[in-house]
Amino acid sequence: MFDVTRYATAAQSIVGAGQFLYGRGWSPATSSNYSARIDSDHVAITVSGRHKGQLTAADVMVVDLDGRPVQSQCKSSAETLLHTVLYRVFPEVGAVLHTHSVKATVLSRLIAAGQALELEGYELQKAFSGVETHEGALSIPVFDNTQDIPALAEDTRAWFLDHPEQPGYLIRGHGLYTWGKTMADCLRHVEAFEFLFECELETMRVRP
Ligand SMILES: [Zn+2]
Repeated sequence: MFDVTRYATAAQSIVGAGQFLYGRGWSPATSSNYSARIDSDHVAITVSGRHKGQLTAADVMVVDLDGRPVQSQCKSSAETLLHTVLYRVFPEVGAVLHTHSVKATVLSRLIAAGQALELEGYELQKAFSGVETHEGALSIPVFDNTQDIPALAEDTRAWFLDHPEQPGYLIRGHGLYTWGKTMADCLRHVEAFEFLFECELETMRVRP
């Protein structure tokens, strides 16, 4: 069982996230999925295939940390396990956002296989929780796209257990995953990533 009031708060934060992310063009054509923690065992998450700019509470359902529906006949995203694994690895995480922007998609295809996206020297790195200076480097892994979500979930789990300070990852030709203690933190992380992706792509354009 989960607390209904906490569920309603989580669902509302997801509806608001959808309006913002769809409005920015980062969740086109019913892609993407968003989640918010209700408690230590339950997560609110978008129902599969819904328009992210027009979400209502009816487009949000509850799953347990194994990704199974709780008191719902709806189907969550095929990528639900990529969310729940993060809530397991990081007990303090309160929200996870997955987006499909043009810049994340294009940039992830330009990173060589086996390499991470290295972000260094950008003032906006400080937008990520826990980052105090532009002088550090962020290493954003790029996982190959796959329809084998349990295998990808395990790969991400292993990587982030070893690199808990990194704020997100890319899936090649697909999109971004990032998370935060609150939905506001998580939305700030998406926005910071999009700015940094644009900087990286612009750098490649002027200095090929
Ligand atoms: Zn996706």
